[in-house]
Amino acid sequence: MEGSKTLTGPDEVLPSLEAIQRARSSLLETLPDDGLGADHVEAHLKREIVPGLNRPSQSSHYYGFVIGGATTAARTADHIAVEVDQNVHVHLPKETVATDVEDRATHMVCELLNLTPEHWPHRIFSTGATASNVLGLACGREHVIQKSASHASSQQSISVAEMGTHKAMMWAGISDVQILTTVPHSSLRKAASIVGLGRAAVIDVGRIDLPHRFDMAFLEDHLREEKTACIVAVSCAEVNTGLFATDGNDMARIRALCDKYGAWLHVDAAFGLLARILPPNDEYSVLNAGVAGLELADSITGDAHKLLNVVSLYKTFYNTNAAYLNTGSSETTASKDRTIPSPLNIGIENSRRFRALPVYATLAAYGKNGYRDMLERQIRLARGIAKWIMESSRYELLPPASTGTSRSDILKSIYIVVLFRARDGALNESLVQRINSSRRMYVSGTQWIGKPAARFAIATWLVDPERDLPLVITELDKATQ
Ligand SMILES: *Cc1c(COP(=O)(O)O)cnc(C)c1O
Repeated sequence: MEGSKTLTGPDEVLPSLEAIQRARSSLLETLPDDGLGADHVEAHLKREIVPGLNRPSQSSHYYGFVIGGATTAARTADHIAVEVDQNVHVHLPKETVATDVEDRATHMVCELLNLTPEHWPHRIFSTGATASNVLGLACGREHVIQKSASHASSQQSISVAEMGTHKAMMWAGISDVQILTTVPHSSLRKAASIVGLGRAAVIDVGRIDLPHRFDMAFLEDHLREEKTACIVAVSCAEVNTGLFATDGNDMARIRALCDKYGAWLHVDAAFGLLARILPPNDEYSVLNAGVAGLELADSITGDAHKLLNVVSLYKTFYNTNAAYLNTGSSETTASKDRTIPSPLNIGIENSRRFRALPVYATLAAYGKNGYRDMLERQIRLARGIAKWIMESSRYELLPPASTGTSRSDILKSIYIVVLFRARDGALNESLVQRINSSRRMYVSGTQWIGKPAARFAIATWLVDPERDLPLVITELDKATQ
């Protein structure tokens, strides 16, 4: 029970190595024959294990992965969700209000993001953006293979969900399904593997000069290929650089191409999506353009545990094109304006946790303006860090800007990710370790064109740019001494 003494100080992002080690050695080696009792175990968790756990969601100086931090309202609601032990899988309006809460929560998410809720009847909370990408690709696979059957009459009977990918493709007369994208998140390849299309189906059609943007001619070449069905996957904010795949009316152009060739349009907007709440103005012009036209997609992945700052949540929205997801007439109407589908009919899981409650609670607690304020604080800190890095002689901001771009234009392209490296090659090799060694701040290590790089991902609601920037600068300064 000594562990409580090694709890991290308030200014430390990570527990000490000693605390981690102590917690590790306190873990039971084997399953006890007789249980230790709930009280004993509670003490074990609180005094021994917790001090050795990291706690990024409670620190404003955790800039590692984009995992956000739970708001006060979300945390309270998540505890309540555990208390009521609600299993939300079937819409049972006479027995529980749980599916109505999920319906209201996803409705409010649409409102937050300027998406017309009526256009997105199939919206669901699942376990994360990876699972959400699985759902998006599964819908896409269903749609594009069916669409590629040459005769409308045979389209009726072709269903991957029913007959499997192989037979459906044979019947449709196609030999390949491609997922066309630019700088995809690793989870997209994983999702491609899970839905049986394969990682190799993911094809990068990015521009040579701007890899995150679509080479439209190259994209169309692939869409036009004979005996091939395509899903287009837009990386709405690429996780390494924070750059957006589309700009201005790119989404409209891609939508038109998808319609012409019968392709499905999926958007992985795990952390880009929230930029839709930013006001349209000069300061945010690049970000406004990056999320313009997302409403034209067939499916969208969002991630509530990232920028909504709710624990482990996300949502995939389906539009009505996903024929196999129609829930039929057996669903009873509970909401006054729509039929609520049973979650088990539109998601991966059957039994599932009541993930909607924290989302409902946090949106109700902070509202549209509260969320806008959180995101604006995050962007202000990211831009403050980027500005300092640009002005520093020891660091370099990445990706390198094309010659002639003004500093203010570079800053306008910064969302919540700041990618950078040390100019000194030897120092750069150990930069991330040096920055993180004080444990007062945490950045993640990554790569830029085969060389080590470091990255700030600013995703927590606790950010206070005026308070946090000086600490970041101090730590960056120290790391190059
Ligand atoms: C984080 C992220 C994912 C994966 O999210 P999980 O919730 O961890 O599964 C997928 N796509 C993008 C763009 C992401 O940023």
